[in-house]
Amino acid sequence: MEVAQIAGEAREAFESGATRSYFWRKSQLRALKELLLEKEAEICEALRLDLAKNRFEAYRDEVGLMVKSVDCALWNLKKWMAARKVDLPLICIPCSGKVVPEPLGVVLIFSSWNFPIGLSLEPLIGAVSAGNAVVLKSSELAPASSSFLANNMPKYLDNKAVKIVEGGSDVGEQLLEHKWDKIFFTGSQRVGRTVMTAAAKHLTPVALELGGKCPAIVDSLSSSRDIKVTISRLASGKWGSSSGQACIGIDYVLVEEKFAPVLVDFLKAKIKKYYTGPENIARIVNKQHFQRLSNLLNNPSVAASVVHGGSLNHDILYIEPAILLDPPLESEIMTEEIFGPLLPIITLKKIEDSIRFIKERPKALAIYAFTHDEKLKKRIIEETSSGSITFNDTIIQFACDSLPFGGIGQSGFGKYHGKFSFDLFSHENQ
Ligand code: NAD
Repeated sequence: MEVAQIAGEAREAFESGATRSYFWRKSQLRALKELLLEKEAEICEALRLDLAKNRFEAYRDEVGLMVKSVDCALWNLKKWMAARKVDLPLICIPCSGKVVPEPLGVVLIFSSWNFPIGLSLEPLIGAVSAGNAVVLKSSELAPASSSFLANNMPKYLDNKAVKIVEGGSDVGEQLLEHKWDKIFFTGSQRVGRTVMTAAAKHLTPVALELGGKCPAIVDSLSSSRDIKVTISRLASGKWGSSSGQACIGIDYVLVEEKFAPVLVDFLKAKIKKYYTGPENIARIVNKQHFQRLSNLLNNPSVAASVVHGGSLNHDILYIEPAILLDPPLESEIMTEEIFGPLLPIITLKKIEDSIRFIKERPKALAIYAFTHDEKLKKRIIEETSSGSITFNDTIIQFACDSLPFGGIGQSGFGKYHGKFSFDLFSHENQ
């Protein structure tokens, strides 16, 4: 079907008024949950084909998380939809005021390949909860997941109002020519600029969920319990989700010089135990990204800093987790988003220097800090700016419906998840 026809049908469905009712919204959310539960095995298989994600990772990061998000919307939908009475100033007597959330209309969602189910469905849940018609553009770089969604969404959901379009950048460009009531984009900063430029033509509001370099500050590794927890969470924040191909995955670590040897030794042991071998870690999505990561690693000044791993298997697109100690700060691995299993560790004289280091760079989607020093925590909160700050853990913020997820500055704008998604796809009428 032509893009114009798809956009037209979605518009017609919205204009019919069907998507506005509580009943419709609830029925779509229930259908989505049914799809996730009934097709769990097929989803996991698609994720295995696209990224060699193992079953545990596929369930935890995509199926399980999405069931949680649908449940959150189902439990709260009535409350979210309710009109809110507001207090008015004396001058308004005898008036009364209400804020009434209304759907925006037809929204376009662009999804990415690294969590191809979750990054399609999480915004979709928000968009249908808010009563919109939706056109979802899945990612061509995760073809099995994309075709799973294209084959199954119409069987479960109202296919007049919720549509999926498959294809690459050419299809994306065609979609951007149309007028939408909101564009929700997950992807690179480069394409984010294209989306924003196209949206400006129609004055369409956009939400951009982009990427960047997420630092992890590691303060003292004092007690053995501390070391154990820190190392486990650091390793899973780097290699545990999509092999580092995650927008909120750790990009690099900042640590005091004196702790670096201990940190490297413990991380090596962790990698050997849990993250080595293609059966234990997702593969690189395609040849182009494999080549990009090989180039980052094979730059001679960077290669000299590799202290562990980094072997490459071109045939199966597998890159062994690698640790690099103090690669040059001007090398690409330290200036570009890595988006893969390579972990630079940058040493500092004092851990407080991490704040300046972070502030000198573009605002990250996430900052992680492993510390029990309340003064340092306070300084990180007050002196840095990023999409989120997480202490003593990684990535977990993505699973919290009560927290607004999204970036700032070059890592994007527009917050979603839980009620924030509902608000993002609603207009607060008064
Ligand atoms: P991408 O920008 O290449 O593609 C994103 C989407 O845009 C895809 O659906 C693609 O088909 C489409 N597209 C590509 N070129 C286009 C064009 N010229 N016109 C219209 N559409 C076009 O990004 P990607 O490779 O899918 O994702 C990787 C990036 O996404 C990383 O930077 C990562 O950090 C970021 N990301 C961010 C989040 C987040 O939640 N903030 C989540 C995942 C990924």
